[in-house]
Amino acid sequence: MLYLDANATESPRPAALDAALAAMRVAGNPSSIHAAGRAARRVLEDAREAIARAFGGTPADTVLTAGGTEADTLALRGLSAGRRILAGATEHPAIRAIPHTEIPVLPDGTLDLAALERLLAEGGPALVAVMAANNETGVLHPLEAVAALCRAHGALLHVDAVQAAGRIAIPPGWDSLAISGHKLGAPMGAGALLLRPGLHPQAIITGGGQERGRRGGTEPLPAIAGMGVAAGLAVPDPRIAALRDAIEAGLPEGALVAGQAAPRLPNTSCIILPGVSAERQLLLLDQAGVCVSSGSACSSGKVSRSHVLLAMGLGQGAGQAIRVSLPWDAPEDTAERFLAAYRAMAQRLRR
Ligand code: PLP
Repeated sequence: MLYLDANATESPRPAALDAALAAMRVAGNPSSIHAAGRAARRVLEDAREAIARAFGGTPADTVLTAGGTEADTLALRGLSAGRRILAGATEHPAIRAIPHTEIPVLPDGTLDLAALERLLAEGGPALVAVMAANNETGVLHPLEAVAALCRAHGALLHVDAVQAAGRIAIPPGWDSLAISGHKLGAPMGAGALLLRPGLHPQAIITGGGQERGRRGGTEPLPAIAGMGVAAGLAVPDPRIAALRDAIEAGLPEGALVAGQAAPRLPNTSCIILPGVSAERQLLLLDQAGVCVSSGSACSSGKVSRSHVLLAMGLGQGAGQAIRVSLPWDAPEDTAERFLAAYRAMAQRLRR
């Protein structure tokens, strides 16, 4: 099997799994004050510190959650009192599910800064949600410029860094930043919302007052311990960029790469095969042992037209694209193996 669906979930990192297993053996609850509880608390706080350090936050202002969706939701619902929410047209469903006004993107997939400036100028206080990197195309938004516009208009900036974390350096200037453990190579079930010091989101999950009242419920300690270790291991890797570029250089004539002109994540390629449905492409590639997806994992059970490609004006290609996303441990012969399967698939389906 050739696993090329890291944007759905990263390949597990053995050291992160070891840390999760060790945390499962700690008997205490981090909220208990006895010795066992204090041992669990130490595991939790070590992970919190590693996560904050890795992504430019501070431990006291890092809220541990059960995943990226929860971190995004806490930011948007918990920080938006009295503010309009403006969100990019290519955001993940975790953001799109919350009522907002859409900020369009340019044909290359990057945020339309002029449109953002107009939207900021025409209304009251805002909370702006822009992802660092798109999960389907890998396109990076101009975050420094977005942050400058937000600052100039007194808006808060939430950055969904779920796909960018560990793969590129994340520009500063955010007020809140969401990450997800399983996109870093940790077990599923943990995430974090990093906050600018001084910001206090209203909890969306109430309960026992954990996480300084910002997120109720016993913390998922094993997954968090794994995320702490994965956060230290996940760093930008030129080897992965070279493998992705080799894939794109070897594509057969007629295949197009969405967002190729924009800065992108080094591991992601969104490939459109005009005239051939994504579903049929996925089926044949799966039969050849190649795991890729169409669109985001959440919608990969049902292959639908991608809202990301539609927003980029690629209406025709929106149901004809597959996403190839290389994991951190992609084998050296990834490009050769993928291209052999892809060419055979394309030849058969175009016939
Ligand atoms: N944001 C982005 C950009 C994502 O790609 C994903 C997952 O695919 C999420 C948020 C949700 O993260 P999680 O799966 O941890 O809930």
